[in-house]
Amino acid sequence: MIDKDKIERTETTKSTHTIDERDQETFRDFVQLCNNCAACELSLQRQNVVVWRGNIKAPLMIIGEGPGAEEDQQGIPFVGRSGQLLDQILNAWEIGEDDFHICNIVKCRPPGNRAPKPEEAKKCRPLLTRQFNLVRPKVILLMGATAYKYFTHDDRGITKVRGAWIEKAGFWIMPTFHPAYVLRDPRRKNDLWQDIGATRKKLAELKLLRELIT
Ligand code: SF4
Repeated sequence: MIDKDKIERTETTKSTHTIDERDQETFRDFVQLCNNCAACELSLQRQNVVVWRGNIKAPLMIIGEGPGAEEDQQGIPFVGRSGQLLDQILNAWEIGEDDFHICNIVKCRPPGNRAPKPEEAKKCRPLLTRQFNLVRPKVILLMGATAYKYFTHDDRGITKVRGAWIEKAGFWIMPTFHPAYVLRDPRRKNDLWQDIGATRKKLAELKLLRELIT
């Protein structure tokens, strides 16, 4: 379950991004709302609603497709093998847990790790919008074709759009490959690396993170 422990983990994190008690309370209410959601059929087989990891206020929001088996079991996004790969790359670019908020297009595991159906993504969208408005990121990293398609409503394949910034309504969006895809095709690892590097540079350029020391 997403519960008090996770909120406490964030509360004890020494944050460079301002979080007050009201933000924490509001976010706690939001998590509760997600935990009680049964708006689509994905609620039927889930073990946990998988809402977030990282910081409740962060300059970077990372959005994937949906929880896998490990995430469903633990109630935390990106904790399996692909999450480990992602964390390695984020760490290498000096992006810490304090700097990002990670979530998915849908918060409950699609059976057999299939992609979420359009109606499931649509039902979950109000929760994602609410989460986005609470976190208030400036930069968004969209991981994988599904996250890109459902977030932007653009049907172009991820190979065509990855690595190029989209500026929309004052937000900076970077589409990239999903780490699970990179694990299946390691030739793509450098692309993911480059895209996260570009994201890190953008955060520094916008003065949301310190400059990288090279
Ligand atoms: S996937 Fe989203 S909309 Fe569907 S039950 Fe889970 S939280 Fe609710």
